[in-house]
Parts: sequence; C-alpha cells; structure tokens
Amino acid sequence: MGALEGVSLPRALVVEAVRRVLGRLRRSKSAVPDFDEIVAGLGSQLASLERQRIQPVINGTGVLIHTNLGRAPIAADAVELLNTVAAGYSNLEFDLETGRRGSRASYLEHALAVLCGGAAVTVVNNCAAALILILRNLTAGEAKEVVISRGELVQIGGGFRIPEILETTGAVLREVGTTNRTNLEDYAAAIRPETAMILKVHRSNFFMEGFVESVGSEELGRLAARKRVPFVEDLGSGAVVDTARWAGLRHEPTVQEVFRAGADLVCFSGDKLLGGPQSGIIVGSAKRVSAIKRDPFFRALRCDKLVLSALQSTVDLWLDHGAGRHGRIGSSGVPWLDQARMGTEELRARAAAIIDALKGLPAGLGTAESFSQVGGGTMPREMIPSVVVEVRPDRIPLTELVERLRLGTPAVVGVLGGQKFCLDLRTVLPHQDKVLVDALRRTLSAGTEG
Ligand SMILES: *Cc1c(COP(=O)(O)O)cnc(C)c1O
Repeated sequence: MGALEGVSLPRALVVEAVRRVLGRLRRSKSAVPDFDEIVAGLGSQLASLERQRIQPVINGTGVLIHTNLGRAPIAADAVELLNTVAAGYSNLEFDLETGRRGSRASYLEHALAVLCGGAAVTVVNNCAAALILILRNLTAGEAKEVVISRGELVQIGGGFRIPEILETTGAVLREVGTTNRTNLEDYAAAIRPETAMILKVHRSNFFMEGFVESVGSEELGRLAARKRVPFVEDLGSGAVVDTARWAGLRHEPTVQEVFRAGADLVCFSGDKLLGGPQSGIIVGSAKRVSAIKRDPFFRALRCDKLVLSALQSTVDLWLDHGAGRHGRIGSSGVPWLDQARMGTEELRARAAAIIDALKGLPAGLGTAESFSQVGGGTMPREMIPSVVVEVRPDRIPLTELVERLRLGTPAVVGVLGGQKFCLDLRTVLPHQDKVLVDALRRTLSAGTEG
C-alpha cells in the first residue's frame, strides 16, 4: 500500500474514498484493474484531496498582497494573541469593569477611529459587506439613487462588480460622465431629490491614462455638502499611512485624507494595505456608524473573535509606529509593509545565500533584478525593484519543475520568465529561505522519475 503512505486525512475521508473507488469498479463493465493500480489511483485521489486543505504556500510571485494566496500575511503579534484568545475564553462581549454584557470590539473600534481620523468605526466581514451596509443604510425611502461615475463601475476580482453589488441593495444607479471623463458638472447635474448619495469608488486594480478626467474627493465633498447629500468613498485598499513616505511607494489616498476631504463614510478592506485578517472597515460620524450597526443585517456580517483579535493586534502595530509621524523606521511588525520596505541589498544577500546552498545540483542558477507589485488590486502601476532567484533545471522540463514545486510540501509558487523559473525573494518571508532551499534541492535532485 505504498501509494497510501503519508496520507494524513481523517480516517472517515479515506474510507469514503475507498468506498467510492470500489463502487465505481463494481459498476464498471471493463476488466478489474490489478490491486496496485487500484491503490495507486486511490492514492492520487487522496493526495489531491489533501492539497485542497488550506496550508502554507511559499509565495515567490513578487505580489505582496496576493488575493489567491490569502492576501496579507498576519503579523506575529496577531498570531500570538490568537494563540491565547482563540484557544480559550475572552471578553469578546463581556465588560470586565462592570461584569455585565459588553459591546463587541469596543477597543478595536476606538483604536481604528484614532488611526483613521474618523469619529466612529465599525468592522464587518469584508469591504463588500461594508459597502452593502452603507448602501442599505443610505438608500432609505424615496432616495434610492447612487450617483457614480461611469469610470468607476468596475469589477474587482472574480465576480465582484460594483454595479451588481449596488443593485442587490435596491439602490438605483445614476451613472454620470463617460468611461474616461467625468467632471464636477456631471455630478452636480445628476443630484435631485431621489439622490441617496454620491459614491466614489477607488480605481484599484487598473489605471487609465490619456484623455481622462475624474473628480477628486475634495471637490466631491464640497459638492455633496452644498447639495446636502451624503458622500461615500469606497477606498478598497485603504492606506492608513502615507505609502510614499513609509514604503517609498506611490502615494495612495489615505483614509484620513478622504475624511478631511469631506466624505461622510469611507470603507476599505482590512486585509489589503492594513495587512490584517479579512475584514471590511467602515469609518464615519458617530451617528452614521451607529445607524449602520443598528441594521438587523449588520449581525449577519459581523466578525468573530478570531478576526477581531487579529485586527486589534494589527491596528495596535500601526498606532505604535506613529502612523507615519516618525517617518520610515525599522520593522513595523506588519509583514507586507516590512517586505515592501526590504532593501535590494538584503534581497541580493539572501539570493546569494540560497544559490550557494544549491550548488552542485543539476540546474542553472542565478539572480536577476526584477520588480515586485503591491497586489490586492492596489497601485497596479507600482513597480518595486526586487531580486529574483532564477532556476533552469538540467534534467527535467521547466514545466515539470513548476508542477513538482507546486505539489510539494510546502507548496512553492513562482513565475516563469523566459526559460527560467523565477522566485521573487521580496515575497518569500525571510524565515522561509531555508525551507525554500530544501524544497528546491528535493525537487532538482529527484531526477526524472517520481
Ligand atoms: C478590494 C476592493 C473591494 C472588495 O473588498 P473585499 O474586502 O475583498 O470585499 C471593494 N472595493 C474596492 C475599491 C476594492 O479595491
């Protein structure tokens, strides 16, 4: 039963797979294959089931916030808190001062309000949920129209289309401008008694160049105030600090800036630039945020203790590091930010050490300059200079190397560049270098069989 060795699935799943394979053999009209063949088939089915389990992946793609790879790695501080809170009881909804029922996440909401520069904050399952709650809250009664630029009716990721989300809440789109150009008069002309809000959606995963025009938050804020309609901005990625100053990246509108510009409500993802667990953060006035929290639908979208704990630690890290007040400092403890700030010198040194450790294996090995990306639909134009390790196997085809690394434990994912497999070290967490070396060594020395 060699093929089944090392299978670590629960017994019930193995038994179910065996029954299914045997059932198929009984029903089959063709000759029964020999025992080894049956066991091998079963082994590969179980292995494929095992690979669907959530497990660590070494990210050599150079995309820091990779939606398919779990977006932002969670901070070590967050994991530490999870270790104690998740494994035991906590004061999730218990007021330690009074000994009575308390409100969920009151510390986190307060800390986020300070970080984001808003009066009040609440946290829900993700940014899509945040947007839905905002729409439900503001499109009450006759005022159902959401004024939005045609240049912002975007699709974000698989199947998340802003117009479709808007419509699920009963909101009516009032599209203004054209795909490439929308000006202030377009917005102003669309506002009427049926208007529920002006919505600005951050163009996260694409950029437009050429004959383009859009209206900034400040102008929209002023218009909204003058017309007495709420102004909402869906930032998506939501930077909480100046990314230019903190990480040498392009400037990304921060939550504070959007607020100062006059937005009534802002929403963003906790797992994009904040680098926390999957969550959606809503920032606004105390009145608006508490109205959203009173929506019965809020309960269906609220977060559990795991998310709230991890987010709390992440927010503490951002607050501790002065939200940009101290400029670029050492380690922030927020993994993606520290990775983004890692200098190419350090990456080059890591690449040299990795190549050194792989000497003698049947492969061409080298390093090259490259570019990493922020990802998560954020700053699509941003190119962060980086360093990649390039591998060209001698004995196996490149495609086979890619597959073996992906199917290994831990799985290793990189990118193909020319005739080489490239691993961007900016997204390989520094403590994974050794594991990466082991995976490459195993794969390259395995020869052409197996
Ligand atoms: C990513 C994104 C969303 C969706 O955020 P989730 O947290 O994944 O639900 C919404 N709006 C914008 C502009 C985004 O970039």
